Amino acid sequence: MFLLRWLWSNLSGYRGRYITAMVLSVVCQSMYIITPMMSQRIVDTFIVPENSAEIIRTQSDLLIAMVAAMVGFTLLRTCITYCSNMLYETTSQAVVYRVRKKLYDNINMQDATFYHTHRTGDIMTRMSGDMDMVRHSVAWIIKNVLESLVLFIVSIVYFFSMDALTAVCLIALTPVIFIASFIFKRKVRPMYVTLREKLSQMNTLAEENISGNRVVKAFAREDHEIKRFDEKSREYSASNKAAALKWMDFFPTIEITAQALSVIQLVVGGIFAVLGRITVGEFTAFAGLIWTLANPMRNIGTIINDFQRFSASANKIIELYYGRTKIADREDAVELTERMKGDIEFKNVSFSYGKTQVLHDINLKINAGETVAIMGATGSGKTTLTELIARIYDVEDGQVLVDGNDVRMMKLKQLRGGIGVATQDVLLYSDTVEGNIAFGNVNMTDEDVVKCAEIADADGFIRKLSEGYQTIVGERGVGLSGGQKQRIALARAVAVKPSILILDDTTSAVDLETETRIQASLRSLDFDCTKIIIAQRISSAKDADKIVILKDGTISDIGTHSELIQREGYYREVYELQR
Ligand code: ADP
Repeated sequence: MFLLRWLWSNLSGYRGRYITAMVLSVVCQSMYIITPMMSQRIVDTFIVPENSAEIIRTQSDLLIAMVAAMVGFTLLRTCITYCSNMLYETTSQAVVYRVRKKLYDNINMQDATFYHTHRTGDIMTRMSGDMDMVRHSVAWIIKNVLESLVLFIVSIVYFFSMDALTAVCLIALTPVIFIASFIFKRKVRPMYVTLREKLSQMNTLAEENISGNRVVKAFAREDHEIKRFDEKSREYSASNKAAALKWMDFFPTIEITAQALSVIQLVVGGIFAVLGRITVGEFTAFAGLIWTLANPMRNIGTIINDFQRFSASANKIIELYYGRTKIADREDAVELTERMKGDIEFKNVSFSYGKTQVLHDINLKINAGETVAIMGATGSGKTTLTELIARIYDVEDGQVLVDGNDVRMMKLKQLRGGIGVATQDVLLYSDTVEGNIAFGNVNMTDEDVVKCAEIADADGFIRKLSEGYQTIVGERGVGLSGGQKQRIALARAVAVKPSILILDDTTSAVDLETETRIQASLRSLDFDCTKIIIAQRISSAKDADKIVILKDGTISDIGTHSELIQREGYYREVYELQR
């Protein structure tokens, strides 16, 4: 019921259309009765009487009119079916468009934890296959349930109007159908939940292998991965088959019941006709309409199957549809009236991923305009620390302040808009180099794009690309070296003229000469900017105003290059090693 209510809420704006489609369905199904009704009249009026030849001769006009009306009604029914199908189809497409848009908006708003806990393949399954089940339910399942029900009820009413006893004999079998369908529904439901999960697993594996194809190739794991995919594909196929075949367990019961209807109609109807309880015309009408009871019975399996499939898909969609992110603007968030200055302060900050605490009681002040390098072993918490500034995650304890404001009290758009980040894991979009650089600032002029590329020492190699700034760089920047991608990412981060620039190991893949040039241009940016540089190399950190050393989530040392090389510790060790 909840699922139907959810569908209904997404039909707003199209409800009139949908109800019209349903009304047309009802009209159309009811019209199926008209032809046998008329046949019954024709039989009783023109065929059964002994002087039928004379009646036909004298009342030929009436006979022709009745036959013409039968043809007319059939044509009309076809037209109505066409119109209602069109309405169902357009409405279902509109609903899918609306739900997909809302889902995509919601996915985009989610925080980092969501992306860590949801597999891309699973999200893609929700956006594609599951969506199609929503369309199918609006355009087909509901329509089919309604039409089967109307046909069933209208025929029963008509049967009762002809002869109650015959009608009772015919519907005496319906409880068998209800019990069988109820058991079938209970058995098949978990099968569709499993089936949905298998589909998601298969898609996830495909997605991982396609995006990670380089690793697969580098380790010559193609055969292994093909086998793994084959297994998942087989499992999906087997689940599909099992769910589809489940109906076969119930099919004989339903089919025998449906066939029994014809037998009852023949035997009971025949006896009653001979006894004169019903007319021959009514007997013909019963015979002509027996399918209106049998077909809905036969349809039950398909409808239950489809509905269970829809239910498994819809539950997955609804989870995303109503999913709320914890990292969002507070109602009383402060509005910045001027550009952020870039003062940053960590006050007793602790942070955990789940149960594992990775930052412990961090206290650090960074003044606007300063360049601060953060160094420390892999896993010491450098990236996490910087992620707390832009609220990729929220602190567990303590506060992160920007210009004196707790970041949780700032508007996300303003906070993040003032921060430029070049992440460790560079992702370039399937767009031109220019488009990638202007990603955060689409109104940039061509000159500005070039200027940012120059800051990142990328202009030279970009101009050498086949189409220069208009070269399309593929998904994840296929075709560029690691260092080139890093430099485009740096240009992209600088392009938003941020008050805070965070560079996470951004120059690790460029040579020292290039790094020196980049550092020089970063020192002379034409806008005020606090720079936080996460570095592995002494060369990247040595000129910073402050170098912060992280060790297992705590600050183990702070100082300038000359101070830190004076004392024992991580920095001096790395310095000795890299000299
Ligand atoms: P660094 O940047 O210094 O290499 P990180 O900040 O990336 O360190 O990671 C700090 C610790 O947090 C590591 O132990 C890492 O395994 C863990 N970690 C990082 N990201 C996640 C995550 N999304 N979920 C759980 N643990 C994480």
